[in-house]
Amino acid sequence: MNKLTIDDIQLKDKRCLVRVDFNVPMESGRVVDDNRIVESLPTIKKLLDSGGRVILMSHLGRPKGKRNPEYSLQPVATHLTKLLGEPVKFAPDCIGEEVKKMVNTLAGDECLLLENLRFHQEEERNDQHFSQELALLGDLYVNDAFGTAHRAHASTEGVTHFLQPAVAGYLMKKELEYLSRAVINPVRPYVAILGGAKISGKIEIIQNLMNKVDALLIGGGMMFTFFKAQGLDIGGSLLEADKVDLGAKILKDAQKRNIKLLLPVDCVVADKFENSANRKTVPVMQIPKGWMGLDIGQESVRLFREELHKARTVVWNGPMGVFEMDNFASGTIAIAKMLADLTKNGTITIVGGGDSAAALAKIGLEKSVSHISTGGGASLEFLEGKILPGVAALTDRQN
Ligand code: AMP
Repeated sequence: MNKLTIDDIQLKDKRCLVRVDFNVPMESGRVVDDNRIVESLPTIKKLLDSGGRVILMSHLGRPKGKRNPEYSLQPVATHLTKLLGEPVKFAPDCIGEEVKKMVNTLAGDECLLLENLRFHQEEERNDQHFSQELALLGDLYVNDAFGTAHRAHASTEGVTHFLQPAVAGYLMKKELEYLSRAVINPVRPYVAILGGAKISGKIEIIQNLMNKVDALLIGGGMMFTFFKAQGLDIGGSLLEADKVDLGAKILKDAQKRNIKLLLPVDCVVADKFENSANRKTVPVMQIPKGWMGLDIGQESVRLFREELHKARTVVWNGPMGVFEMDNFASGTIAIAKMLADLTKNGTITIVGGGDSAAALAKIGLEKSVSHISTGGGASLEFLEGKILPGVAALTDRQN
C-alpha cells in the first residue's frame, strides 16, 4: 500500500484524531450490533498502547445537520468503555472551546469520543472552516472508517488539508489490501458473483468486473431485467423496465468479447411477495403469469458451484434472492456455504455489501470467508475502479 499507516509514525503523546465508523444500529439508546466498533479496536488499542491521546470522531444515522439526542454517540462511548475495559470520555460536541479543553487535558493513553459529526451540516458539505476546527483537535489524523471513504466529507477529506500526516488505521489498511488484491492483481481464476435488487446500483461494477474476471455470475432480483432483455416472460418478477436495453447491451458485449457471464437457469417463484406464499421451482423460460421469481433454483446453484469451485479469488456482492424470507433464502445460503468451503481450501473470498454479510451472519459463517468489507458503498466504488476521496487524501509513502 502506498499510503502511510499508524505503523509508520510516532504516536507517543500525540493527539491522534481518528475518523472511525461508529454508525451502528441502535435500539432504545443501546448498541444492538457492535461489529463496526469491534472492528476498530485494533487501531484504538495500538494508539493507546503507544501512548497516544486518542480522539475518536464518527457520524451516526442521518440527523440532517441538527442536534438530535436520538442520534447521540453517548451510548457508543459507554459500549466502547466496556469493550476496551478502560473509561472512554465523551465530548458533548465535535468542535468548539469545550471540546478543545477536553482534548488538551487528555493524558497519553486516554480516549475521548466526540459527539456525532453530522449534528453539523458542515460535515457533509465538506466545509473548510469546519474542517479546520476539527484539525485543531489533533497533531495527526488517522482514518479507519473505510465505510465512509467514498464520501468527501470534512472528517474524511477536508480535515487532511489542515492536518498531516494523515494515515490509515488497521481496518482501513486491511480493507484496502484485500480489495486491491481483487482489483489490481487477482489470483486467477477470478470469479465475481453479483445479486441484490437492482441493476441500476450495480451497473458500473458489472461493466468494470467484466474487464477483470474470468467469470461473472448474476443472481438476485437484477437477473430478471436480463431475462426480459433476452425476451423471456418474467411474470411479476422485479423489473427495471428502463434498464432492459442496458441489460441487452451488457449481454451482447459479453458475448462479443467472449466473457463468461452466467445467468441462472431456474428460479423459485411465488404467487405473492410473502414467506408463506405458494412456491415452486421452474426453469427461467417458464415463469408462470402472475408469479414472481424470489430465489435462484437448485440447478442454478449447481451451475454456479461449477464455476466457483475453479476460482482462486471470489468477490460476492448481493443476495441471490429475498433471503430475508426463509423460504427464499436457499440460493443465498448455498452461495454463502460455498464461499466458506472455498476459503478453507485457500481461495481468497471477499464479501462486500451489508446484505451478503447479513446472509453469512444468518448462518453463522461470517468468520468463514477471507474478508467481509465493512463498507458496502465504498467497497462497490473501489471495485468499480473509482478512487475513494478518503483514501486519496491520506499521506503517500515516500519510497
Ligand atoms: P441490493 O441492496 O441491491 O444489494 O439488494 C438487496 C435486496 O435485494 C435484498 O433486500 C433482497 O431481498 C432483494 N432481492 C434479492 N433478490 C430479489 C428478488 N428476486 N426479488 C425481489 N427482491 C430481491
